[in-house]
Amino acid sequence: MKYLSTRGHAERKRFCEILLEGLAPDGGLYLPETYPQVDAAMLDKWRAIYRDSGYADLAFEVLSLYIDDIPAADLKAICRKTYTEAVFGTSEIVPLRPLEPGLYLEALSNGPTLAFKDMAMQLLGNLFEYELGRRGEELNILGATSGDTGSAAEYAMRGKKGVRVFMTSPQGRMSPFQQAQMFSLQDENIHNIAVDGVFDDCQDIVKAVSNDLDFKRRYKIGTVNSINWARLMAQVVYYFAGYFQATKASPHPRKISFTVPSGNFGNVCAGHVARMMGLPIAQLVVATNENDVLDEFFRTGVYRVRASADTHETSSPSMDISKASNFERFVFDLLGRDAARAAELFGARLPAQGRFDLSGDAAFRSAAQHYGFVSGKSTHADRLRTIRDTYQRFDTMIDTHTADGLKVAREHMQAGVPMIVLETALPIKFAATIEEALGRLPPRPARFEGIEALPKRVQLMPADAALVKAYIASHVR
Ligand SMILES: *Cc1c(COP(=O)(O)O)cnc(C)c1O
Repeated sequence: MKYLSTRGHAERKRFCEILLEGLAPDGGLYLPETYPQVDAAMLDKWRAIYRDSGYADLAFEVLSLYIDDIPAADLKAICRKTYTEAVFGTSEIVPLRPLEPGLYLEALSNGPTLAFKDMAMQLLGNLFEYELGRRGEELNILGATSGDTGSAAEYAMRGKKGVRVFMTSPQGRMSPFQQAQMFSLQDENIHNIAVDGVFDDCQDIVKAVSNDLDFKRRYKIGTVNSINWARLMAQVVYYFAGYFQATKASPHPRKISFTVPSGNFGNVCAGHVARMMGLPIAQLVVATNENDVLDEFFRTGVYRVRASADTHETSSPSMDISKASNFERFVFDLLGRDAARAAELFGARLPAQGRFDLSGDAAFRSAAQHYGFVSGKSTHADRLRTIRDTYQRFDTMIDTHTADGLKVAREHMQAGVPMIVLETALPIKFAATIEEALGRLPPRPARFEGIEALPKRVQLMPADAALVKAYIASHVR
């Protein structure tokens, strides 16, 4: 399996080469040259593997189709080390919970940080440790977070050999629970940097440091952001696992649909990949909050990036995005893998004009028919109503992002087609809004009891890239 860039760079790479890289050299995103095809016989085989041997072995089957430069026995060991009941809480890893006939929640949030990002990040941590060890190299991950990504990265990389994490976050702007999750980690290879500023200041610092190519090379700076292909690939697995669970009673050859609370388009893009591989998916429903960049595109064909001032702070903050960093992957496929057009749209037109318009394009008009994509949007009032309704009718507490998904899912149900809503976080991460909706606090898993009172390991710093560089330099041996 070789990987290409969405912007047409001539070079083709293998998995372990792109694992530690971010963007392709031409600024594009990596995708496999072709999507491996899964036929009915293979689906039957995988169904049996998931049922009899578990999620880790299913993950190995899927990943094997995309990774041919790690020996099979090693890859299987990595999957088995990653997806354990001890880490993810159940033997199914991603259990399906029925709500009402034909409507399910797939739990992706029982990992170490209680959000779906653990599903991919935990694998990434083990892949990084393996590959860096094999090469005898080190990596210093520099990131910016407003919540879920940073903690998922830290919990995935803590104690891993060859890896350090330097995570910037806006001082005082994460929820107390999210802060405590990150700052209570005492591992020597994890560094929290609380910046006196907002999330954009943190991102600017990461950009400034990464643009200093000498520094970047000298200190082996890398990232774990959502454009990393390995993260996307890991997420493909739970679409298969959800399908097998939803069709357990009547395996052949029904289609099912998924609704995905979306921000950077990483999660739902994995659904697109699963569908391209042949998983019988009828619809991929993209659910957004008030930051409706993606809903606008699927409704109108216009992709319009928002300015920071026009990006709303909402009660589903992990979907508060101004542009969707994985979207280029889907548009590349939508345009028949025309790299020249993708390069023009994302490399030239978007930076210059902040928007592009595919409404006149036959490809856009077929997005629903050929790719299953539809969309919808949810607001704060919708979230409160959905959280309340779900609690009252089903005795189930859901988080704010999942509520956005459930609200939009109901608008796209089709007769006879099971709908799975991906649960992307547990309610305890967003306790204030749950309390607003229900007048009571969400339950807290026992292992997080009292974390706010634990000693904190964090460095406060003004929003200044030079100071962050000095901090990194003094903590890299
Ligand atoms: C990251 C995140 C999302 C958005 O996922 P994308 O892959 O960026 O679309 C949704 N919900 C939660 C809880 C998240 O942490």
